Amino acid sequence: MKKYNSFHIEASCLKRISIFSKKDFVEYAGQDAGRNYKILGGGSNVLLTSDLDCDVLINKIKGINIQRETDEDIFVEVGAGEMWHNFVMWTVSHDLGGLENMALIPGTVGAAPIQNIGAYGVEQKESFVSLKAIDKESLKERIFTNMECMFGYRDSYFKNAGKDKFFITSVTYRLSKNSVPNTSYKDVSEWLASRAIEYPTPNDVATAVIDIRRQKLPDPAEIGNAGSFFKNPIVDQTTIDVLSGMYPQMPSYPLDNGTYKLAAGWLIDQCGYKGVRVGNTGTYKNQALVIVNYGGATGEEIKAFSEEIQQAVLDKFNIRIEPEVNIW
Ligand SMILES: Cc1cc2nc3c(=O)[nH]c(=O)nc-3n(C[C@H](O)[C@H](O)[C@H](O)COP(=O)(O)OP(=O)(O)OC[C@H]3O[C@@H](n4cnc5c(N)ncnc54)[C@H](O)[C@@H]3O)c2cc1C
Repeated sequence: MKKYNSFHIEASCLKRISIFSKKDFVEYAGQDAGRNYKILGGGSNVLLTSDLDCDVLINKIKGINIQRETDEDIFVEVGAGEMWHNFVMWTVSHDLGGLENMALIPGTVGAAPIQNIGAYGVEQKESFVSLKAIDKESLKERIFTNMECMFGYRDSYFKNAGKDKFFITSVTYRLSKNSVPNTSYKDVSEWLASRAIEYPTPNDVATAVIDIRRQKLPDPAEIGNAGSFFKNPIVDQTTIDVLSGMYPQMPSYPLDNGTYKLAAGWLIDQCGYKGVRVGNTGTYKNQALVIVNYGGATGEEIKAFSEEIQQAVLDKFNIRIEPEVNIW
């Protein structure tokens, strides 16, 4: 599995099977109803902590198909095995807006709704229309609307009641022909201003995001990682009042429902964990939120290190940070 997970963990599975179509999946799953298997896209959001005593299906269902078009929007159905970044680059090359802030996020289109990926002030749910998935038990196709997916911050139905119950085969997005890009993030607006780009196109924003991300985040091709290891914690007003009294410089972002999002990276940094190395694992030098495999780390070693960080943040701030990464 080493080449199939972005942490580059050495682990085995019974068989690795590529799925190129819905038919491939139904044929595989239909052979034996009680079959135990796991589904992977790009493997950029999983931590393998042991050998897998089951098959692993790799989603390779491709295709970018325009469904319909209005004066303002285009509806595009995308095969779940398309690489997300390639699809984003397809949208900006057609001057379509909506996904440009999420350029360079690794992984597949089919995994994007599972944790409702997001970056630089935009989440995929804002352009998401529906997805098609096959129920692993009945092998029947089901369509999920935006509401039915119950998207939240790095969260959806597929991480809760629908966890491990469906094989996602395609996702439909609505892309805008005349969108005004979201440049609310300081890094993005500064990048554009420094190049005197006053009215950025989706392609300008994608170019900015790619440049910024390359400077900040480790490339999994060079150093194993799964991006942010933890989710940013959400806290209530009382907690924010206490913490900002104690730590006036602590970053926090008010949310619509009266709660606040804290920066997990900042909390970890304050516990002295930025750029730390413990054995073969550690945190990235430019971003404490990213746990890396310096080479030869086991999944167990990375998991133990992540729990050490969790405990340190709990001890110092009385806040429990939860993993964003799926631990297998
Ligand atoms: C360097 C780096 C930067 C990152 N930056 C971001 C970021 O900015 N924002 C962000 O939100 N995330 C980010 N991530 C996390 C990751 O890219 C996303 O979570 C991505 O959507 C994972 O896609 P994947 O195909 O690799 O999923 P995988 O890791 O293969 O799978 C993730 C989960 O989804 C399930 N799954 C995958 N495909 C299917 C399917 N077709 N049907 C059913 N279940 C499926 C798997 O079983 C698993 O539980 C980053 C990761 C890295 C390595």
